[in-house]
Amino acid sequence: MSPSLNDSQLLKSQAYVGGEWAPAGAGATFPVINPATGEALGTVPDMTAVDARQAIAAAEEAFPEWRAMPARKRSKLLRKWYDLITEHADDLGRLLTAEQGKPHAEARGEVLGGAAYVEWFAEEAKRIDGDLLPPQGPGQRELVLKQPVGVVGAITPWNFPSSMITRKVSPALAAGCPVVIKPAEDTPLSALALAELAYRAGIPAGVVNVITASHGAEVGGELATNSKVRKLSFTGSTAVGKLLMSQASDTVKKISLELGGNAPFLVFEDADLDAAVQAATMMKFINSGQTCICVNRLMVHEKVYDAFMDKFTAAVDQLNVGNGAEKGVTTGPLINDKGLQKVESLVSDALHHGATPVRGGQRHELGRTFYQPTVLADVNPDMACFGNEIFGPVAPVYRFSSEEEAVRLANDTPYGLASYFFTRDAGRMWRVGEALEYGMVACNTARFVHEGMPFGGFKESGIGREGSKYGIEEYLETKFLCMGGL
Ligand code: ADP
Repeated sequence: MSPSLNDSQLLKSQAYVGGEWAPAGAGATFPVINPATGEALGTVPDMTAVDARQAIAAAEEAFPEWRAMPARKRSKLLRKWYDLITEHADDLGRLLTAEQGKPHAEARGEVLGGAAYVEWFAEEAKRIDGDLLPPQGPGQRELVLKQPVGVVGAITPWNFPSSMITRKVSPALAAGCPVVIKPAEDTPLSALALAELAYRAGIPAGVVNVITASHGAEVGGELATNSKVRKLSFTGSTAVGKLLMSQASDTVKKISLELGGNAPFLVFEDADLDAAVQAATMMKFINSGQTCICVNRLMVHEKVYDAFMDKFTAAVDQLNVGNGAEKGVTTGPLINDKGLQKVESLVSDALHHGATPVRGGQRHELGRTFYQPTVLADVNPDMACFGNEIFGPVAPVYRFSSEEEAVRLANDTPYGLASYFFTRDAGRMWRVGEALEYGMVACNTARFVHEGMPFGGFKESGIGREGSKYGIEEYLETKFLCMGGL
């Protein structure tokens, strides 16, 4: 059953290519399932590489006019899109909850947080400027121009079906690039609704395209290998990111990757424990643990371990698991069986190696893909959950005895996306802040993501930054123009 929307036109069953709502060339479709109920919300086209090539051609055709449009006009169109997204935030949130499972308040928050990127880059569109360099010869002028890179392929995940799209599409559009979006197979409806609003905002045909497919490999592979696509932006698993990076190498595309994380959350002996517990609970269980910046390893100094555990388990007891469309629910289902099986196997490995389930540790009685909020004590770095992204509502709590040990353990991973630490010692704030090998470090807070900060990772967590004044660079080429004989 589809969610009841104030604007029923936001629920789409076709893809959006060259300004037209389109079926798959071969006519195939696949269902979109509500993970909380198992019900089908509708169907969308199951597209192939042939469809992807058509969308890429439509984007290429739209490029000359879009890049030539005065920045102020592009900015106005983005601003209109932003206005429409915020106006329809309730509906977009309902749609998002239905296809993804997160509670409505969280879903609406994602839609508005995603819209903030559109607003931000609507402004940035007006601030793409160049440079005049000191000339190296007589009668010479030397300039640096910033130009749009060209057609952008955007491959997005299911955990943020709305904001991962606006975060890529709005800087691309601001820079003057057209985009072909391939949303995740679990959550294509939010992407299509955003396309409907882009159409209503007056963004020209072919500038925004959305193609849907039940398996990422074929359509995604086309975006990664097609020579007309000059930039690939991907958010998803590290395994697929590595594959796309190698596929994109043949045509030497510009590439941005936002991949997996393994976020440590360090609680030092001088931390404000109440603040640490509140932040850890939020950043562990938000989206049922299914975000790349979710706390993956809670590490607590031995002197405050017991006190932290008492407060943390009390906070976890307040979580309310259920269908995100219902009032008061804090924790929805996991996205699908694959996600559930991964969580189960990591918990079972930990229990097998001596961990103690202080809370939860099993599937939730609601069935389907619901999982109990879980706290594991007596964990150690030899367990699989230390090195793997859990992507579920499971908090392993490790013990450490010195700052040096905590930093070493925190950095002992190929990932480097988000990290957190709590301390009131000003010297330690600087030492640990600088020592953590992560693209994003949050001290004494877990709320740090917004459109004005550079989001991205070190090491195998990715390449490039999204959001902020740095984000638009990903969609621009730098051209040196030398004028001689003046
Ligand atoms: P997860 O395992 O969390 O679902 P993925 O990395 O598999 O994360 O998915 C993120 C996005 O990448 C989705 O849009 C998915 O369809 C797409 N995708 C998955 N496999 C491939 C692939 N081989 N090539 C291109 N895109 C892919």
